[in-house]
Amino acid sequence: MHASQPLAFQFRALPWRVTFGAGALDKLPEIVEQLGYKRLLLLTTHGQRDKADRAAALLGDRAVGLFDQSRSHVPRATVDAALSLAKSCNADATLAIGGGSTTGLGKALALHGDLGNIAAPTTYAGSEMTPIWGITVDGTKTTGRDERVLPDWVIYDPRLTLDLPAAVAGPSGMNALAQAAVNVMALPANPVVTALALDGVRALASALPEVVARPDDLPARGQALYGACLAGMALGAGTTGLHHRLCHTFGGRLNTPHADTHAILLPYTVAFNTPVVPDGAGQLAQALACDDAALGLHALLQRTCPVTSLKALGIRREDLPTIASLALAKPCDNPRPVTAEAVREILELAWRGGEPVIS
Ligand code: NAD
Repeated sequence: MHASQPLAFQFRALPWRVTFGAGALDKLPEIVEQLGYKRLLLLTTHGQRDKADRAAALLGDRAVGLFDQSRSHVPRATVDAALSLAKSCNADATLAIGGGSTTGLGKALALHGDLGNIAAPTTYAGSEMTPIWGITVDGTKTTGRDERVLPDWVIYDPRLTLDLPAAVAGPSGMNALAQAAVNVMALPANPVVTALALDGVRALASALPEVVARPDDLPARGQALYGACLAGMALGAGTTGLHHRLCHTFGGRLNTPHADTHAILLPYTVAFNTPVVPDGAGQLAQALACDDAALGLHALLQRTCPVTSLKALGIRREDLPTIASLALAKPCDNPRPVTAEAVREILELAWRGGEPVIS
């Protein structure tokens, strides 16, 4: 922030509790003991079942069930199935061990089943640090903010991310970067949120190329996970805008992969907002160690992600008008007022994967 600007902001700290470090999962029994939970339902995806099994072994008798059917964008049917299992095994809390989809399921069960909620993330989604929930019904993803969904404790163990393939790790890290970037460029800027977001950008921008180049680099994985933690904190205490609106519209309507969608759209939404947030764009560029934030993000996308355009993601050009009109159906709180023409331009450029230069 410029010292010449009068400082005025509000900040409400969320009740975050975090244990971070290689081997942190081993502290699970102590954490559960401190929280007073007796009967945990473990949540994961089929592919991450080995991690849930390890957690179950650590928990012993306190692990009373395992649900390994988490799904992207948290479909309501998945919530209902997990809720029914939680009831049948009389669970008092869940441990979500997996990516953002699994964390999202834990949040949905906290909201609809009044269950305690511990998260051990295995990607860089950052959802574990936000009070934002999302549930998809009939192709529409509804999201909201509710502090009841915030995990009681987050266990960040970079070892849990070591098997995340480079092709998933890159977009996942860019998803976290989006949460931070949006909050560096928020209007009005909140200095506390900006500080969290900028350090998150620095950590992610420096770690992601290394994570992708050397997947077994544990310090780089830890740095990326730290960046995701800060980015999630920034999003949790901060705001969203057109960027998230577009990503959720694609996800809900076309079931596009969440992280790739964020990664691809980010340079364009940042380019769109740059003229009205020049200070934020400058700070973002500095944290990315480049001259122009949108161009820097575009370069990072090419370096870290296998899919770099909506076209390559499998989106048909004829789907873009539907996405645009759905995204515009409700007012969107964004630093730069959103017009139909701007959304069309952003989507067209992102579809082609062209240079992020928006009028
Ligand atoms: P994901 O959770 O769907 O995981 C993607 C794939 O990666 C899955 O197949 C999973 O099994 C696999 N995977 C996870 N960890 C792995 C590991 N360590 N090694 C190998 N494979 C692994 O995807 P995601 O990108 O982590 O999360 C996306 C979801 O999170 C979306 O539903 C999105 O809406 C939500 N999200 C919510 C917030 C929020 O604040 N509410 C923030 C970010 C993301």
